[in-house]
Amino acid sequence: MTPTHPPHDAEEDRFREECGVFGVWNHADAAALTALGLHALQHRGQEAAGIVTLAPGGVFHHHRGLGLVGDIFGDAKVIGALPGRAAVGHNRYATTGETALRNVQPLFADFAFGGFAVAHNGNLTNAATLRRELVRRGCLFQSSTDTEVLVHLIAISLYANVLDRLIDALRQVQGAYSLVALHQGGLIGVRDPLGVRPLVIGRLPHATAAPAWILASETCALDIVGAEFVRDVDPGEIVVIDDSGLRSIKPFEQQPRRFCIFEYIYFARPDSVVEGTGVYETRKRIGAELARESPVPADVVVPVPDSGVPAAMGYAAESGIPYELGIIRNHYVGRTFIEPTDQIRHLGVKLKHSANRATLNGRRVVLVDDSIVRGTTSRKIVEMVRNAGAAEVHMRISSPPTTHSCFYGIDTPSRRELLAAQHDVAEMARLIGADSLAFISLDGLYRALGRPGRDRAAPGFCDACFTGDYAIPLTDWPAEAAGRDPQAAS
Ligand code: SF4
Repeated sequence: MTPTHPPHDAEEDRFREECGVFGVWNHADAAALTALGLHALQHRGQEAAGIVTLAPGGVFHHHRGLGLVGDIFGDAKVIGALPGRAAVGHNRYATTGETALRNVQPLFADFAFGGFAVAHNGNLTNAATLRRELVRRGCLFQSSTDTEVLVHLIAISLYANVLDRLIDALRQVQGAYSLVALHQGGLIGVRDPLGVRPLVIGRLPHATAAPAWILASETCALDIVGAEFVRDVDPGEIVVIDDSGLRSIKPFEQQPRRFCIFEYIYFARPDSVVEGTGVYETRKRIGAELARESPVPADVVVPVPDSGVPAAMGYAAESGIPYELGIIRNHYVGRTFIEPTDQIRHLGVKLKHSANRATLNGRRVVLVDDSIVRGTTSRKIVEMVRNAGAAEVHMRISSPPTTHSCFYGIDTPSRRELLAAQHDVAEMARLIGADSLAFISLDGLYRALGRPGRDRAAPGFCDACFTGDYAIPLTDWPAEAAGRDPQAAS
């Protein structure tokens, strides 16, 4: 397995979050809570989902499937067949390993110390290197996910107990990850030492008994099950939850935080609070900053739904230009529907979005979206708005230009396919057919997050897809690590 760049869904013209994780300890309806939590995290992965529960006597049960959480776990019989007071769950948008049932998490292994289930959000950047070494040593892999590398490292560790084995394995991996794991003795949550991917702790108070504990990728998954937010898992922290409560271990050397800044721009659900900051309000502040940086005389501000909505609201409020729903999104178009034929596939944008002529005809339009990846969707949407009679179309983007691929668990094309990596802003405007185009600046983005600007020595966030400043080694991608485009050389 020698990746040349992160795998990417060629149908999608945006960065895609790839996984959501959820865990429960000490609740009679652990499987049902996990299904609900995964449903709230559906935006983080729509291709597959799985739940593993731990029943009395140390017996593990599991169910995995391809598709949406509601389709896989909507049947009460499926939940009924997952007994136990503890569970871990995962939903997935494939970034490593083809979409096949054998790759659907949580992965489960029977070790000498008992059963162990693990679900992983993120990407290990030395997984292929470690995998080659493990195969050379005789390990047999069942899947093509990088998570299985972790399972094998745990299996061959010489430490006696599960926690020490996990720490031993984590010391060997590089990458961005949030994990939830379940074994007979407890529920475990881990964030990578830089805290790139999110993981939060919640609690469901019981009137007469010890609380139920929840681990989840985002706070929106706590809200759906009625759990109170306790705190974020810290970067590099391992939390161990068992019947005596929660304890924290910090076995890794402390490093500067590098939370994924794109979570605020697009990935996280708007009603989530990540790292203490509300996503919805942040997106509105980004829109306001964008209006201050790149004003333009116009009649209406129109979001590209749904991702451009809060930023467009912020832009409209700051600029004083009326906010209108000029594009209507059809929420009932699934990717499976548009996949079968080329004739239908080329209609993709029209199937997902329609122009609202009443708000666009004869108007000068500020169109707000969260990002431009390859530019194919932006070009079609600008064309759609023009065809609905817009007099002018000015595109405003609530992220800086995406000039680099993500290797930390987000589905992105190679640099060669990124419009901003190949063209300057004026050329991009011409290619997407807009009268003008502007992106929020990197400093403006940091200002919207409450910073004075980007501190080059200690940014506090991962922003590598805008800067190429990769804080975690790209061991499996040596050409990209050296700043070369391997495809350009071939
Ligand atoms: Fe997030 Fe971009 Fe960093 Fe990937 S490279 S983790 S998308 S900020």
